[in-house]
Amino acid sequence: MNTSEQLFARSQKIIPGGVHSPVRSFKGMEMAPRFIKKSWGAYLEDVEGKQYIDFCMSFGPMILGHRHPQVAAAAKNALERGWSYGACEPYSLDLAEFIIKKIPFIEQIRFMSSGTAAVMTALRLARGFTKKNKIIKFDGCYHGHVDSMLIKAGSGLAGSSDPSSAGVPEGVSQDTLILDLNDLVSVEKCFADHPEQIAAIIIEPLPANNGLLIQSQEYLQGLRDLCDRHQALLIFDEVISGFRVSFGGMSELTGITPDIVTYGKIIGGGFPVGAVASTQKIMSCLAPLGGVYQAGTLSANPLAMSAGLANLQALTSDTYGAIAHSTQKIVELFRNFLDQFENGRYQKLNIISHSSLFWFSPVKDLRKISMLPANIAQDFNPLFKELLKRGIYLAPNAYEVGFVSLAHDQKVIDDLALRLKI
Ligand code: PMP
Repeated sequence: MNTSEQLFARSQKIIPGGVHSPVRSFKGMEMAPRFIKKSWGAYLEDVEGKQYIDFCMSFGPMILGHRHPQVAAAAKNALERGWSYGACEPYSLDLAEFIIKKIPFIEQIRFMSSGTAAVMTALRLARGFTKKNKIIKFDGCYHGHVDSMLIKAGSGLAGSSDPSSAGVPEGVSQDTLILDLNDLVSVEKCFADHPEQIAAIIIEPLPANNGLLIQSQEYLQGLRDLCDRHQALLIFDEVISGFRVSFGGMSELTGITPDIVTYGKIIGGGFPVGAVASTQKIMSCLAPLGGVYQAGTLSANPLAMSAGLANLQALTSDTYGAIAHSTQKIVELFRNFLDQFENGRYQKLNIISHSSLFWFSPVKDLRKISMLPANIAQDFNPLFKELLKRGIYLAPNAYEVGFVSLAHDQKVIDDLALRLKI
């Protein structure tokens, strides 16, 4: 088989930057991305036959590990029946009922094909329901590549916003209000500055796309209270945290109920799925009942529905305890490595962790993206390359978190200890 370098040369000719998603690029690493041939449990194997302990885990969905037998069996069975009808089918009902039974505030759910589609729908739904236009988004939270979410804090007046991507019209940015995380006063002021105009606040209740910016219970509760006071909706984007930090995600852990929740990743067990869920009252604004349009040729794809259900059925409370326990051991091994490697070359990097997520952070207690130094790749990139050499695969970007799965058991942890030997 060709090497990763050869495949990357081929790929760059036919795919922009050689990748189908920029987060897969090894930009800044001065090397070709590894081309993965196969996976199992906690491992990846690249086209050269080198094996890695995987801490990217497809950016989150593979919480049971790669090719978990129950998920594989469900997907194989589904394949035997047919994999797309464009018509009603029973499989999405099984998945929907399973979720609704376990997460009390959810009365209705609609499945689509990506987290981005889920966020796009949630925002439109919030606007349609409240008949207001503006959305509060926080700097440091990522909500997929929806135009209105590719917005950064403006360089002009405080509270103003600008597109963060070329191709997003200025007009779109006007209705997205960007604020700092962990600052309730600014949210209060924003509501006062835009009376009767704010449809919703959207937040990753555990922001995990720009490092791990863990927010306090008081802050999240404060957002809930402000939304109630101003008749705005609270949207929890639980595309990463849903079914990961606990079955019911951050809303279960904090006891704070959002008006709308978005899911992705784990809900499809590694197949393309996104979902929007809420009360019947809010969800009935969606077409065909209501005037908020949303649709999808491959929505509730039967293969993804069956694999997703098998994935969720395997997640018991014991699973979460076990993965969190493994994560602590893994963090400890990395911590020792950072302290000892090349006379403490990486000593100043911290590891922040939450449940089954961890992140190499240049700062100790991080709540806002503005607290991060601009040159965070400076330490991370050489560390990434050193770990890769040792057969440890992280997402190739200093801002991405590490994901631990059920397959990262004691045997894998012992293997990690060997690979991290100084
Ligand atoms: N919201 C959050 C919180 C995410 O982490 C992501 C993806 N990383 C998305 C939305 C977008 O999901 P997708 O990549 O499936 O479109």
